[in-house]
Amino acid sequence: MADQDKSAKPFAPAIVPAVFQQAVEQADIAISITDAAAVILYVNPAFTRVTGYAPEEVIGANHALLSNKSTPESIYQAMWAAITAGQPWSGRLVNRRKDGSKYLADLLVQPVIDASGAVTNYLGIQRDVTDLHRLECEVGEQKALIESVVDSAPVVLALLDRDFRVVLDNHEYKKLVSDLRAVEPATVILDAVRASLGTLPGTPQVGRHAFHDHEIRFDSRNGTRWYSCSGLWVRRKDGTVESFFDRRDDLFLLLVAKETTRQRAEQEKTRLAMLQAMMAEEARIDSLRETLSAAVFKIEGPVNIMASVLSTLERRGGSPAGAALAGALRAGRDAIDSLRGAIPGHSPESRTAVNINEVMRDVLDLTTTRMLAAGITVHWRPQSVLPSLNAYPSRVRTMFKAIVDNAIEAMNAKGWKARELSVVTRGHADRVEVIIEDSGPGIPPDLRYKVFEPFFSTRMGGGGHLGTGLSSAQQVAADHDGTIEIDSTERRGCCVRVVLPVPRRGMAA
Ligand code: FAD
Repeated sequence: MADQDKSAKPFAPAIVPAVFQQAVEQADIAISITDAAAVILYVNPAFTRVTGYAPEEVIGANHALLSNKSTPESIYQAMWAAITAGQPWSGRLVNRRKDGSKYLADLLVQPVIDASGAVTNYLGIQRDVTDLHRLECEVGEQKALIESVVDSAPVVLALLDRDFRVVLDNHEYKKLVSDLRAVEPATVILDAVRASLGTLPGTPQVGRHAFHDHEIRFDSRNGTRWYSCSGLWVRRKDGTVESFFDRRDDLFLLLVAKETTRQRAEQEKTRLAMLQAMMAEEARIDSLRETLSAAVFKIEGPVNIMASVLSTLERRGGSPAGAALAGALRAGRDAIDSLRGAIPGHSPESRTAVNINEVMRDVLDLTTTRMLAAGITVHWRPQSVLPSLNAYPSRVRTMFKAIVDNAIEAMNAKGWKARELSVVTRGHADRVEVIIEDSGPGIPPDLRYKVFEPFFSTRMGGGGHLGTGLSSAQQVAADHDGTIEIDSTERRGCCVRVVLPVPRRGMAA
């Protein structure tokens, strides 16, 4: 190749110029040839079809005769700057046909350069793109219209690709991004759906719902918001060259979330009122249970002493006092049995999917009046979406209420100034953590285990407490395979950490 003669002309059979002419004549695109001053020398039949001018009407005239005089001067300047420098130029101009009608021309001007490098002629190729332009405008307008409709829709909309990345969203979605403090709402929604359904059901299929009207809640320090969410599989045509012949459509998930907080708020009000009544009744029964248990506990002491005295007397051969003591012991044991029989049992409850954010929200709502009266400020920091537990809802609620009640009472001591309660929830793949921290006087380290013993109270002798709250709470946590610990805190106060396990997928109720 290196020693090839570069000046050698490509081989062109004698027939080729005639074929070129025929090809240009028969081409279905307007072709013109001008001199260096744009004076027309030749036009093909397609040129006549586009412009209405016969060859004899334009040959000898400047190409400017097609100008509608509305194309900006700057376009011509750019054109001429390029073509006089030997460079091709293409662009769109507004032209006028012989009959005066206007059309949009997509023009390519190719300079013809002679052997000395001078531009001798120009080749003009133009297409009427009026309809194409109208179509482009319509598509553009439609896109803008769709975007403004999607943006003004009062629902959260997002289009996700197969990897669940957001490729399109609307104004409401963006608002949610800022409400969730830059956490991707689509991820939060899909996590919440997966948390309650286990997975996104069904094989992706155009027109099929991945989930439909699925209600989820977002908890934030500003309150709880409810959304009814649907996910619909939709198709988008793949516009890449690879799929021009081999059509490959891309599947997308259209996420639609409609806020239902207002409707839910009404239902929540009623539910909370019922819950309040139910918990008041439970508290009454609990206090009865505590009182009777404490009575049993208190009687058991002397009865046990009587039993040991009696066995000593019997070992020494018995006595009339021993017989009297045996009678008293029987009476004491009967009394214990009757008291035990009178202790009300726990109402039967079955395990169900429980959202700890909802439980904590309930507990805070139920204690609002007391906290307001005690001047306590609450810092509620829930994780926006938590995995569900498989738990006994009332027992779990009672457990957290006991912990919060303890915190309120600790801070409500006369003269105690710091009155802040912080409640944090955190979700992990295998567990949910709740950290309840108060700014009260705290529990001394040597009592951190003792407080879980039945009938132990740091307020012994005051407040009418029997000290069964934390021991019952620990029992509830244990019944759920969870734990309650009193953590040491940097600051004063008490920090109770409750950890409850999350059932493995497919094990949820
Ligand atoms: P012009 O007098 O042409 O001036 C417009 C601008 O172009 C000025 O800035 C001027 O300085 C510059 N200019 C003009 N002629 C030259 C030149 N010879 N050398 C350097 N600069 C120059 N125009 C259309 O409107 N529609 C067409 O379909 C069209 N097709 C064309 C096809 C070809 C092959 C060529 C070469 C030109 C074509 N033109 C076309 C351009 C046309 O020749 C005119 O330049 C244009 O129409 C503007 O005309 P005018 O009389 O308004 O202004």
